[in-house]
Amino acid sequence: MTDLESICKEVDQLIDILGGYWSKEWLIEPVIEELGEFSKELQIDAGLHPGKSTTKEKLAEEFGDLLFAVIALGRGLDIDVEKSILNTISKYRLRK
Ligand SMILES: [Mg+2]
Repeated sequence: MTDLESICKEVDQLIDILGGYWSKEWLIEPVIEELGEFSKELQIDAGLHPGKSTTKEKLAEEFGDLLFAVIALGRGLDIDVEKSILNTISKYRLRK
Protein backbone atom coordinates (compact mmCIF):
# COMPACT_ATOMS: atom_id res chain seq x y z
CA MET A 1 0.00 0.00 0.00
CA THR A 2 1.24 3.47 -0.86
CA ASP A 3 0.37 6.43 1.29
CA LEU A 4 -1.13 9.56 -0.21
CA GLU A 5 1.89 11.77 0.56
CA SER A 6 4.16 9.38 -1.37
CA ILE A 7 1.75 9.45 -4.30
CA CYS A 8 1.68 13.27 -4.20
CA LYS A 9 5.49 13.40 -4.27
CA GLU A 10 5.53 11.05 -7.23
CA VAL A 11 3.04 13.29 -9.05
CA ASP A 12 5.35 16.26 -8.28
CA GLN A 13 8.33 14.40 -9.76
CA LEU A 14 6.44 13.52 -12.94
CA ILE A 15 5.14 17.05 -13.34
CA ASP A 16 8.71 18.34 -12.95
CA ILE A 17 9.86 15.96 -15.69
CA LEU A 18 7.02 17.21 -17.90
CA GLY A 19 8.06 20.84 -17.46
CA GLY A 20 6.64 21.85 -14.10
CA TYR A 21 3.26 22.94 -12.85
CA TRP A 22 1.20 25.23 -15.04
CA SER A 23 0.20 28.64 -13.77
CA LYS A 24 -2.56 28.42 -11.18
CA GLU A 25 -5.39 29.62 -13.40
CA TRP A 26 -4.75 26.75 -15.87
CA LEU A 27 -4.33 23.87 -13.41
CA ILE A 28 -8.07 23.14 -13.52
CA GLU A 29 -7.98 22.43 -17.29
CA PRO A 30 -6.59 18.87 -17.05
CA VAL A 31 -9.18 18.08 -14.37
CA ILE A 32 -11.99 19.20 -16.70
CA GLU A 33 -10.49 17.26 -19.61
CA GLU A 34 -10.03 14.07 -17.60
CA LEU A 35 -13.47 14.38 -16.00
CA GLY A 36 -14.89 14.58 -19.51
CA GLU A 37 -13.00 11.46 -20.59
CA PHE A 38 -14.13 9.57 -17.49
CA SER A 39 -17.70 10.74 -17.98
CA LYS A 40 -17.65 9.54 -21.60
CA GLU A 41 -16.49 6.06 -20.53
CA LEU A 42 -19.26 5.95 -17.91
CA GLN A 43 -21.81 6.87 -20.58
CA ILE A 44 -20.44 4.18 -22.90
CA ASP A 45 -20.60 1.69 -20.04
CA ALA A 46 -24.24 2.70 -19.47
CA GLY A 47 -25.05 2.03 -23.13
CA LEU A 48 -25.61 5.67 -24.05
CA HIS A 49 -23.27 5.46 -27.08
CA PRO A 50 -24.59 2.62 -29.27
CA GLY A 51 -21.87 0.65 -31.01
CA LYS A 52 -19.20 1.61 -28.49
CA SER A 53 -17.97 -0.46 -25.61
CA THR A 54 -15.64 -0.02 -22.70
CA THR A 55 -14.04 -2.19 -20.07
CA LYS A 56 -13.58 -2.02 -16.34
CA GLU A 57 -9.86 -1.52 -17.03
CA LYS A 58 -10.55 1.48 -19.29
CA LEU A 59 -12.86 2.99 -16.66
CA ALA A 60 -10.17 2.49 -14.02
CA GLU A 61 -7.57 4.04 -16.35
CA GLU A 62 -9.67 7.16 -16.84
CA PHE A 63 -10.41 7.30 -13.11
CA GLY A 64 -6.65 7.22 -12.49
CA ASP A 65 -6.11 10.01 -15.02
CA LEU A 66 -8.71 12.08 -13.19
CA LEU A 67 -7.13 11.40 -9.79
CA PHE A 68 -3.72 12.39 -11.15
CA ALA A 69 -5.11 15.67 -12.47
CA VAL A 70 -6.92 16.40 -9.17
CA ILE A 71 -3.80 15.70 -7.13
CA ALA A 72 -1.73 17.85 -9.50
CA LEU A 73 -4.30 20.63 -9.09
CA GLY A 74 -3.97 20.50 -5.32
CA ARG A 75 -0.19 20.31 -5.36
CA GLY A 76 0.09 23.09 -7.92
CA LEU A 77 -2.06 25.29 -5.70
CA ASP A 78 0.12 24.38 -2.69
CA ILE A 79 -2.80 22.64 -0.99
CA ASP A 80 -2.09 19.88 1.53
CA VAL A 81 -3.89 17.11 -0.38
CA GLU A 82 -3.79 14.60 2.47
CA LYS A 83 -5.09 17.09 5.02
CA SER A 84 -7.84 18.16 2.61
CA ILE A 85 -9.19 14.65 2.06
CA LEU A 86 -8.94 13.85 5.78
CA ASN A 87 -10.91 17.02 6.58
CA THR A 88 -13.58 16.00 4.09
CA ILE A 89 -13.77 12.49 5.55
CA SER A 90 -14.28 14.08 8.97
CA LYS A 91 -17.10 16.21 7.56
CA TYR A 92 -18.83 13.13 6.15
CA ARG A 93 -18.40 11.32 9.46
CA LEU A 94 -20.16 14.17 11.24
CA ARG A 95 -23.11 13.92 8.83
CA LYS A 96 -24.09 10.40 9.80
MG1 LIG B 1 -7.70 10.23 -19.73
